[in-house]
Amino acid sequence: MNGPYEIFDNRFRDLVLLNVSLRKLSGGHLWTEGPVWFPAHQCLLFSDIPNQKIYRWMCDGTVNVFRDHSSFANGNTRDAQGRLISCQHGTRSVTRTEHDGTITVLADQFEGKPLNSPNDVVVKSDGSVWFTDPTYGILSDYEGYKSTPEQRHHNVFRLDTVTGELASVAHDFAQPNGLAFSRDEKRLYVAESGQSHDDTVPSVIRVYDVVGGNRLENGRDFAAIEPGLPDGFRVDCHDNVWTSAADGVHCLDANGVLLGKILVPETVSNLTFGGPRDNELLITATTSVYAIHVNTAAARGPKT
Ligand code: MG
Repeated sequence: MNGPYEIFDNRFRDLVLLNVSLRKLSGGHLWTEGPVWFPAHQCLLFSDIPNQKIYRWMCDGTVNVFRDHSSFANGNTRDAQGRLISCQHGTRSVTRTEHDGTITVLADQFEGKPLNSPNDVVVKSDGSVWFTDPTYGILSDYEGYKSTPEQRHHNVFRLDTVTGELASVAHDFAQPNGLAFSRDEKRLYVAESGQSHDDTVPSVIRVYDVVGGNRLENGRDFAAIEPGLPDGFRVDCHDNVWTSAADGVHCLDANGVLLGKILVPETVSNLTFGGPRDNELLITATTSVYAIHVNTAAARGPKT
């Protein structure tokens, strides 16, 4: 098979394409993250965290600055109304960019104290915003402002955007990172990337049952990731998990079985599905952003 693949299970052959190559969309950055595709605008937004910018890649190949002084924005997603939701290390907050360009702070404290540094975010089909809050953005002045954590835990949070209530739904992590729901939203996957600073922490994606639509129970390991760490990941329309790793993008089935890899020449931080025909994997990897056509697409959440 051509292409930059490692195949461990024949099911992977049906998910990728022959005779396609990994294309570099943008380069020269410091640490890219937070890729999110906007169908209405036919563009990809991604963060360069240390450079404090959110960039925009357009289908004609141009790349420009979407937001300067991004407050060390990290993970991004879009809500059902097509609005940008961003995790910002510098303000230790999760924000929403409204259609008129104004920025609304969705969450910046819990139990009266500042959040650590929101890292990655996903919106459930009921409109609730789920995000992780590790300390990466306050450990140094490189990806935020060095500060002493004030939260007791490194939480996974659920924000009710109707009532404004912020609830900790899990905190059994060294450093929670990327997160994504299964197609039916009955499971939430969360990356444990704490091995970055502690060799004793397993490099794993964990999975929880979503109970009552708003609580997590029965947390357990879903899959070990190696080499490297799981950072951001996405679930496709077949319920496969496509995750970042040191050597590229790993594709796991819904039981955590490794089906194959797309090899990428730089350490991958995150990825998303998108492109004009919604059949490309858009990959942030260290100094660059890459794209490759695939034979799958993003999961669509259940209708509410
Ligand atoms: Mg992350």
